[in-house]
Amino acid sequence: MAILEARELHRFFHIGDEETVALRSVSLTLEPGEIVAVMGPSGSGKSTLMNCLTGLDEPDAGFVRIDGVRMSRRPEADKARLRAHAFGILMQSGNLFPHLSVAENLRFQMLLAGRFDPERSSRLLLGVGLAHRANALPTELSGGETARAGLAVALATDPPILVADEPTAEVDTATEGRLISQFEARRAAGKATLIATHSEALARRADRVIRLKDGKVIDV
Ligand code: ADP
Ligand code: MG
Repeated sequence: MAILEARELHRFFHIGDEETVALRSVSLTLEPGEIVAVMGPSGSGKSTLMNCLTGLDEPDAGFVRIDGVRMSRRPEADKARLRAHAFGILMQSGNLFPHLSVAENLRFQMLLAGRFDPERSSRLLLGVGLAHRANALPTELSGGETARAGLAVALATDPPILVADEPTAEVDTATEGRLISQFEARRAAGKATLIATHSEALARRADRVIRLKDGKVIDV
């Protein structure tokens, strides 16, 4: 059974009289052990889709199910519980607490989930190429380093589903390869991974690519 299912999601935004249709009837499924890349130009709806899938935003129509349980249109506390169990999430910004170092951010995330595992923390930092930046504050990191630190936090609890919004933007090829290895390790462990990306290298290693244009899934 799909661990994540989205059926006919629609999302509209209104600013004054302007209406933006950010998602038009987007459906998708994600199976355990799959890596799926979501691609499309800037403004095509990738981030809106990820927000709706993780319950951080509510679709205007359609629904999301996590492991058979409906996420959409539930009380916030229920969604938060579902989200905490199912997801590791890397958004495009705001993934780190600014007053905590990289290592402290990781530790905090693990404590929230119940247990700090120092060995896993070190392994994750090594895996995203940030072992040498463990004690840096988020303000001291480059864009690419910030995304990788956020990715380590999203992976802290080894979640059943990783949703990552452009994790390899602003990183060099070698680092990108390292991040792809992290995703492939998840595949081998039967964990699902959904990544919004512009990277063709990443898309080539994905099991499937979903292409968005103007909020719609297009066939290519
Ligand atoms: P992508 O991540 O592919 O760049 P987004 O999901 O961020 O695309 O945006 C899709 C469309 O929805 C864009 O036209 C964007 O301007 C619009 N949009 C996204 N979020 C909001 C918002 N909170 N309010 C108004 N418009 C939004
Ligand atoms: Mg985006």
